Amino acid sequence: MPQLAAARLAARVGRMTASRRAVAAAVARQRGHFTAEALAAALPNVGRATVYRTLKILTEAGVLCRVLMDDGSLHYRLSGPGHHHHLVCVGCGAIQDFADSVVERVVSQLARAGSFTVEGHWLEVYGRCAGCSTAPSAAR
Ligand SMILES: [Zn+2]
Ligand SMILES: [Zn+2]
Ligand SMILES: [Zn+2]
Repeated sequence: MPQLAAARLAARVGRMTASRRAVAAAVARQRGHFTAEALAAALPNVGRATVYRTLKILTEAGVLCRVLMDDGSLHYRLSGPGHHHHLVCVGCGAIQDFADSVVERVVSQLARAGSFTVEGHWLEVYGRCAGCSTAPSAAR
């Protein structure tokens, strides 16, 4: 788990109820990305509403980020630092973070041109990671 996410998680957990702490502990154990449904299924003693509410709190605190997979499902992932976007591999589901100032500049230019006040934006890029784009004949 990224150090920053761990620190943010620890800061949040101190003020949580026992059931929210159980959700946070399960989040900390996750490797890679996960759905709210899978997390709820792994915590049979915690109500679904608590699972969803805790995921929302952790997302707003910058501990988690949401990733829209190419099948339309929403996954959660421990967040890297700062505002960023995701490269999502449609082959193996691996997710990489990326941040690009050009993307941010384009968004603010579009907003200015359209007299539109931006409150947020979301960008996922779907493709194949290095491992998945390798031709089968050239397999490892
Ligand atoms: Zn992210
Ligand atoms: Zn891949
Ligand atoms: Zn952005």
